[in-house]
Amino acid sequence: MQEKNEAFPDCVRITLRMTPQQRDLLRRGAEVAGTPVSTFVLHSACQAAGQLLIEQQSGVSSPIVESLSTFTKPARQRWESIPADIRQRLLSNVWCGQCRHETTITNFSGTIKGRDLLLVGKCAECHGDVARVIEGA
Ligand SMILES: [Zn+2]
Repeated sequence: MQEKNEAFPDCVRITLRMTPQQRDLLRRGAEVAGTPVSTFVLHSACQAAGQLLIEQQSGVSSPIVESLSTFTKPARQRWESIPADIRQRLLSNVWCGQCRHETTITNFSGTIKGRDLLLVGKCAECHGDVARVIEGA
């Protein structure tokens, strides 16, 4: 992911309104990442924005195609047999135990476990580990 938005010469300062829960979550995430909260928020937002733009430029399947390099061959075949819109939905409603709500899985890899396809990755919001099982037919 590109990071050219960081340390831009003419920076603008913005103030974010957030709930105590959001602030706490961001603070914990920043601690794990080892960066100040502001850097963490900016970095995450830029990452998300960058991903959105890539998605928009080259069609919805692009981020998925990128991460398929970490799929095993059978997992990749299974994943590619799922229609793109359903894949997007599967990726965007993964339960995160830390955030306690549905979130988007990022940086995921895919393996076949028994008859199921197992996706293991990171929560887009808190960067904690999340997983999704897509049950076999
Ligand atoms: Zn999370």
